[in-house]
Amino acid sequence: MKIYISADIEGVTGVMHWNETEKSKPDFQEACEQMTKEVKAACEGAINAGVKEIWVKDAHETGRNIIASRLPREAKLIRGWSEHPLLMVQELDKSFNALIMIGYHSYGSSSDNPLSHTLNPFELNYIKLNGQFASEFLIYSYAATTFDVPVIFISGDEGICKEAKKLNNNIKTVAVNKGVGNSVISIHPQLAVERIKKGVELALKRDVNQCKIHLPAHFEVELSYKKHWKAFKTSFYPGMRQISSTNVFFESKNYDDVLRMLLFVT
Ligand SMILES: [Zn+2]
Repeated sequence: MKIYISADIEGVTGVMHWNETEKSKPDFQEACEQMTKEVKAACEGAINAGVKEIWVKDAHETGRNIIASRLPREAKLIRGWSEHPLLMVQELDKSFNALIMIGYHSYGSSSDNPLSHTLNPFELNYIKLNGQFASEFLIYSYAATTFDVPVIFISGDEGICKEAKKLNNNIKTVAVNKGVGNSVISIHPQLAVERIKKGVELALKRDVNQCKIHLPAHFEVELSYKKHWKAFKTSFYPGMRQISSTNVFFESKNYDDVLRMLLFVT
């Protein structure tokens, strides 16, 4: 078996402030240590389930957060950003058996995480996909579905775990933080590591095809910008329409078009 792990930081145990997510800030060190531990735990769970090849995407900000030397030898690490439209799941293709998400967080404008956002947190209020608020989990679950790869496990805040269960109840989830206003209530970091390791192992020992989801036949995307002139600018992207001072709208039957659009306007 060959699996893919996409890792973010805003849903890592205890993380609740932007200073903990920025490489240049002193608060970052502990968060990136825990992010590394949680990714390592997912790798170890996968190895226990018989996985021989693991690709890890460091999918937060600089793409240079995970401490590579702490990962097992079976793992290849993708650092930085190729700027391919697959972004957080760069290099994912039909050869993978399953996708795992670690440190994921609730969608932009959600109250389930003080750091909730979708893609660029400094430019966008939210993204809606077919009328629903879209999380990075949803955007890249759909991307994986175009390759027939199921998301089988996610760890992060309670909100994103609930969203995953709603999309497919067979997806295994480990909630590590509960967002309350501008705070999080977290489980112990070591307990999170243990639950992630066990959860990934169990998820891979079951029939992963039970986690497959349905890809919509038509996509309507609404983006809401913090600055009105960003909406004005992106309204010039082919097929994009400005629908209010801050919001733009795009539609397509092809999900690749959606991913390409998001690459250029976020
Ligand atoms: Zn992030």
